[in-house]
Amino acid sequence: AENFGIDTALKTLGISDSNLGTSTGSEFFSSGEEISSYSPVDGLLIAKVTTTTKADYDKVMDATTKAFATWRTMPAPQRGEIVRQFGDKLREKKEALGKLVSYEMGKSYQEGLGEVQEMIDICDFAVGLSRQLHGLTMHSERPGHRMYEQYHPLGVVGIISAFNFPVAVWAWNTALAWICGDVCVWKPSEKTPLCGVACQNIAAEVLKANNLPEGISCLINGDHKVGEYMTSDVRIPLISATGSTRMGKIVAQTVAGRLGKSLLELGGNNAIIVTPDADIKMTVIGAVFGAVGTAGQRCTSTRRLIIHESVYDTVKDAVVKAYGQLRIGNPLDENNHVGPIIDTDAVKMYEAALAKVKAEGGTIVVEGGVLSGEGYESGCYVKPAIAEAKNNFEIVQHETFAPILYLLKYTGDIHDALKLQNGVAQGLSSAVMTNNLREAEAFLSVQGSDCGIANVNIGTSGAEIGGAFGGEKETGGGRESGSDAWKVYMRRQTNTINYTTELPLAQGIKFDL
Ligand code: NAD
Repeated sequence: AENFGIDTALKTLGISDSNLGTSTGSEFFSSGEEISSYSPVDGLLIAKVTTTTKADYDKVMDATTKAFATWRTMPAPQRGEIVRQFGDKLREKKEALGKLVSYEMGKSYQEGLGEVQEMIDICDFAVGLSRQLHGLTMHSERPGHRMYEQYHPLGVVGIISAFNFPVAVWAWNTALAWICGDVCVWKPSEKTPLCGVACQNIAAEVLKANNLPEGISCLINGDHKVGEYMTSDVRIPLISATGSTRMGKIVAQTVAGRLGKSLLELGGNNAIIVTPDADIKMTVIGAVFGAVGTAGQRCTSTRRLIIHESVYDTVKDAVVKAYGQLRIGNPLDENNHVGPIIDTDAVKMYEAALAKVKAEGGTIVVEGGVLSGEGYESGCYVKPAIAEAKNNFEIVQHETFAPILYLLKYTGDIHDALKLQNGVAQGLSSAVMTNNLREAEAFLSVQGSDCGIANVNIGTSGAEIGGAFGGEKETGGGRESGSDAWKVYMRRQTNTINYTTELPLAQGIKFDL
């Protein structure tokens, strides 16, 4: 079969017919049930992974807590050197891993490569950061005293990730956690377990070549029950969880119940505001890529276009015309724009959302539908759809993880558009298309977008790793990747040193003996 070199990629990544799903480094062991990973591209079985039992999990925790004792004593720049080598290994395996991401998850090969590039970029960022884990120094109020703060490694970081970025999210967390001196246990999505195995193999190769102990990078596999081993485990001070808001609410409560820390990266409901001063050509590119890229399965996918009435018909016609040119098909074939969505359950949710928007009074302007016939045998290929809707429709308030774009009309000024934009429970990514300085600044102001990401003349999707990534409200409030996101992976300590022979108390308190 013409499978675009998948077999070679699987071999390069050490994936066999049946990969055991639990590992503390180079060896795999597992005794749970099997998960079969089927490709949404052609519906074929790629390989099977064995889930992690509680006994397997306890073995992982023993190895990882032991590894932490060594790893944390290694100077941070030396840990950075390991991450540098890891980035190099990713460069070597970029094509193979990009292909596996495309084949197991369904995003285009270009986007698969882009995801691996993000992993490489975060490694580079982390290498530099390994020499910059700065704390502040401050002036003590007491004479002969020095005060400063320092950051120490936290311990085991539990990473729970979603299917839609099956490799990059792990790397965002791991590269930073490693240079911070932490060790990692990762549970990838049960929908993309082989991406987890492939990454674990790459990490293990680097760690082994440096004679580092087992347990610095660990993999566990399974569904939410395996995730819960970690969220309820007091040995894990930080849980970094990416996925739906539904999942985040459960994880947050479990972790808070034991006063652990959680870093949550949850769902979005992202909008582009198109003002009368927008560049229409740029708007169309940004909106269409935002809505149909990754078949609408990015947390930052554009779900809503909030268009001023004066340009509404122009924008609508241009976007509808662009949709007419979209080629839907095998994502490994670079001629196609849109690949499949993750599985047939997701297809059902897509169909239900389209039925719901109609039932609530919306008008479909680009018809959706499930594709069948040659090339679409997996049953996971759907047509990107557009509906005219109202912001208060229940379905518009909800994140449907599929290529459905809602057109909303606004009258009045930028503040009226912002009311619609902010009028949802999620707060991840947002954008305004305008050449008007007043509108752009209002959008970025204190009365502007309430999202973690606010862009001007860029769409909602495609963030760079250099900035802190995450969102507010039901998106969970976490930040990862660039800027000072590393601080959550460390514990902060304030130190005061007295180099005199007196013992003055703070606040001038007198206590004479
Ligand atoms: P999901 O919530 O179904 O699953 C995500 C992960 O959480 C999986 O590994 C799953 O096994 C695990 N999980 C689920 N319930 C759990 C529980 N109770 N305890 C522990 N672990 C549990 O999400 P999905 O369908 O894989 O991904 C799509 C969602 O992820 C969308 O909502 C999308 O917006 C969001 N997402 C957000 C970001 C972000 O950075 N904000 C990035 C990617 C995806």
